[in-house]
Amino acid sequence: MKVLTAEIIAIGTELLLGDIVNTNAAHLARGLASLGINTYHQQVVGDNPKRLLEALEKAYESSNLVITSGGLGPTQDDLSKEMAAQFFGLPLQEDAEARAHIEQYMHRTGRQITENNWKQALLPVGSRPLYNHNGTAPGFVVEQDERMLIMLPGPPSELIPMFDEQVIPYLQSLSDSVMLSRTLHICGTGESAVESRLHDQMEAMTNPTLAPYAKEGIVDLRITAKASSEEEAERMIQPVEVMIRDMFGDQVFGQDGQTLESVVVQLLQEKGWRVATAESCSGGWACGQIVNCPGASQVLEGGFVTYSNEAKQSILGVKKETLEQYGAVSEETAKEMALGAAQALKTQTAISITGIAGPGGGTAEKPVGTVCIGVACQGKVWTETFQFSRNREANRRLSVVRALNMLRLAILQN
Ligand code: ATP
Ligand code: MG
Repeated sequence: MKVLTAEIIAIGTELLLGDIVNTNAAHLARGLASLGINTYHQQVVGDNPKRLLEALEKAYESSNLVITSGGLGPTQDDLSKEMAAQFFGLPLQEDAEARAHIEQYMHRTGRQITENNWKQALLPVGSRPLYNHNGTAPGFVVEQDERMLIMLPGPPSELIPMFDEQVIPYLQSLSDSVMLSRTLHICGTGESAVESRLHDQMEAMTNPTLAPYAKEGIVDLRITAKASSEEEAERMIQPVEVMIRDMFGDQVFGQDGQTLESVVVQLLQEKGWRVATAESCSGGWACGQIVNCPGASQVLEGGFVTYSNEAKQSILGVKKETLEQYGAVSEETAKEMALGAAQALKTQTAISITGIAGPGGGTAEKPVGTVCIGVACQGKVWTETFQFSRNREANRRLSVVRALNMLRLAILQN
């Protein structure tokens, strides 16, 4: 069967009540997009048999693949499978391997098997089982009259590996073309600027396609090619990638799974340099982002959170006169903070962040969102003032993005 259009149905009353966020749908949607399978609608239904049947009816009006999440558990309200069996007119039958899986899983995790656990080994006759290595409920694929249904368990720790390891390869095997994507990450220019520079190209391109996605302080450009082989798709992506890299130069900081902090850590590793952080309004966030990257211990010496003027003076050696003359949020202070941190920890590089995160504390000359960032690299210092106009948390996050980007550029220039 050839999958044309897919629809995702997330099952769970908790989702309707807003108690949990529908992250499963997001994961499934990304996976389908990566396969080039179109989805035009999504549904969320509670644990209610009648409404689930209605949701299936509705989904198959416009799609020939439906993927559901949730309701495969052992309890009374878990009725997805029963409803699917009823929908397709297929009886449920115990799958011996699913039963063995449940037995092994419960044994391995030291849990007592209860009678209702065996209910989970029942699958619609003729379905293709998707065994669960991270829980008890198997998923399954049913195909009937050009309609395919894939049911997956609700817990993301079970759904994600089952989908990535079993469903994606299966769906791929049904398609005669491959989709390949490359995402380039850009920092230092806004989404509308990226979009206006690329507008004509994006409009004209159909295969590969080019699409921008804005994140906080970062713009992603995704190039996607559909071809008969991976090599051919790669050949189609190449020239577009070159065009974007030429256009944006060193504003392109990485691709695919890379993050700003992982790129910074990698650059520092290559140089054999270490970094120190001096943070005021970001409160250690920049340091934490670096620590998030494996290999941080090779490049991070330490970090200071110097919130008060006194701490900036006593720990980083910022001069009293500087604070009095220019204020704590100034490029002069940022410069002394960065140099002070590098000196205190004897590192080749340092970043400093001092700003007004808000909501209070703004003035006419320095409104909320004014952030001064400093970067020290091999004794030289760069400073810059940014005006972010978001809420407190977003201002703090944007500060960190900009500081890491400035450090990246400073390392590249040395
Ligand atoms: P279980 O065996 O745990 O009962 P199940 O397949 O019956 O699994 P649900 O009971 O629907 O799944 O959901 C179990 C848990 O999985 C929920 O409490 C929730 O934490 C998580 N979950 C369910 N659906 C989603 C979803 N769409 N997005 C994110 N998390 C979800
Ligand atoms: Mg359940």
